[in-house]
Amino acid sequence: MKENYDAIVVGGGIGGLITAGLLAKRGLKTLIVEKAPAVAGTCRAIEWGGFRADMIGKVQTAYFAKPEDTWLYRAFEKVGVTPDLGIVERHIMSIGRKGQVKPEFSLFDTGAGSDALIDLHSIMTGFELNPKQKTELERVLNEMGTISEETCKEFLDMGFKEWSEKNVGDIVIQMFFLGTTLLAGLDASDFAAGHMMGAMGPIHKGSFCFALPRGALMEDGLIAPLAKAVEQLGCETITNTTVKKIIIEDKNVEGVWIIDNNTMLSYQVKAPIVVCAVPIYHAFGRFLEEKDFTESELRFVNMIMNGQQEDYWGVYFLKEKVVPDDFPAWSHVFDFRTGGPVYLGDLWIPLGASQWLGATGPKGKQIVVMYMVGGSEGHFEEDYPSYKTLTEQTSQFESIIDSEILPGFLKAVEHRGHLLMPGWGRFSYLTHDPNDTLEVKSKAVKGLYFAGDTPYVLGSLLGLERCGRAGIECADAIARDLERS
Ligand SMILES: Cc1cc2nc3c(=O)[nH]c(=O)nc-3n(C[C@H](O)[C@H](O)[C@H](O)COP(=O)(O)OP(=O)(O)OC[C@H]3O[C@@H](n4cnc5c(N)ncnc54)[C@H](O)[C@@H]3O)c2cc1C
Repeated sequence: MKENYDAIVVGGGIGGLITAGLLAKRGLKTLIVEKAPAVAGTCRAIEWGGFRADMIGKVQTAYFAKPEDTWLYRAFEKVGVTPDLGIVERHIMSIGRKGQVKPEFSLFDTGAGSDALIDLHSIMTGFELNPKQKTELERVLNEMGTISEETCKEFLDMGFKEWSEKNVGDIVIQMFFLGTTLLAGLDASDFAAGHMMGAMGPIHKGSFCFALPRGALMEDGLIAPLAKAVEQLGCETITNTTVKKIIIEDKNVEGVWIIDNNTMLSYQVKAPIVVCAVPIYHAFGRFLEEKDFTESELRFVNMIMNGQQEDYWGVYFLKEKVVPDDFPAWSHVFDFRTGGPVYLGDLWIPLGASQWLGATGPKGKQIVVMYMVGGSEGHFEEDYPSYKTLTEQTSQFESIIDSEILPGFLKAVEHRGHLLMPGWGRFSYLTHDPNDTLEVKSKAVKGLYFAGDTPYVLGSLLGLERCGRAGIECADAIARDLERS
């Protein structure tokens, strides 16, 4: 490590790696500082009892029909890596409907456009729409399907409930739309109308894909080739080192204070440019303070801090093979006993039907991940659920799995582990004034930039897509600023 760099990137997650790679490609002497023992951030793999699986169970989600059209793919190509991303079929499974003994599987074909949504509605509610209701649904979806990004932005500070009461003629169709916001774990009033329209529109047009690196975990299929390319471009990476402070004098960035996590020795590293590629809720109050933001940026940061939730996983190793080979790799699990389509969580089976996801484990054994059970997507209370509530909900979920989805599941469990992931949010869905945002370039401090999944919350991009877009646009903004100075 040197004493001076042209640019320092805080955080070696996918967002930091992309941004650092693009800066190094432009000839900037760049350093990534990562506090964990290795890069990857949230895209790392979990290893447990001989099993290895993706830490974020979710696939890369994008509002495009082909992986090649995604921001993430474009960002990788710019760094010099061609990712081998394949489309994953999306399965929706409903359980517990009255009179339904066996679970019902339905392929949510993302390419089928709004037809798939209408099917999903029938599965969730158990009744078919009449022709008048279908016409109204199609009218609203068509409207959403042709809406521009600019129009979406105009509706970002309006709750979706308010919007649908004004714009949707039929009460059943209103309920349909409000029900879909529950899938994201939020009350329809807190769900930005602009975001909903921006998300529903592409689904309606059939341009929506879920992609994963083919036959590999995210860490192996995406992060490893990306980190290699970043290194080949001349970027240095230092791990096991935490940024304690971004040094800011008279509203100008001067470098960072870092601490070696092994020796606890502290160093100052100088650079006129620092990119915060750490989700803002992990950076704010730690190495960035209130005074480092404008009032408008602060309103945005506070909105995100308030939107944080907790995610919860249960990981199970099964000594016997109870998951059939044709079981969908991924199922959303709903519970209809409460009267509405309440989302309980995801059931994810990295082994069994979904070998191609790349998870590995001892032969003949299976791993089952129950994901977000009672976490942000599974509860609709104002307060975050307590650990006790989460474990109670998990037991409930387990007995549903055992009795209705995978008979013999509980008996086959060899190991049961839990992971609580506090502090991450579905903040992209929250309503806020579109003028209050955090852009890739700080408005308060010269030389400070943001990448990773915090910028571009406005609009309908999901986390990894935001990382791709922010990486490209952050590196472009830095290059423009350097040309000017
Ligand atoms: C449970 C879960 C499910 C998700 N599902 C999806 C999905 O389906 N689709 C999708 O698109 N996105 C999804 N996401 C979001 C996606 O994972 C993130 O958007 C993306 O991984 C964020 O990357 P990042 O580089 O911004 O941050 P991170 O991956 O969080 O990386 C930040 C890095 O900074 C390091 N760091 C933190 N503080 C410091 C410090 N002080 N000094 C040095 N280093 C530091 C951390 O160790 C970490 O390595 C999900 C996220 C979670 C948590």
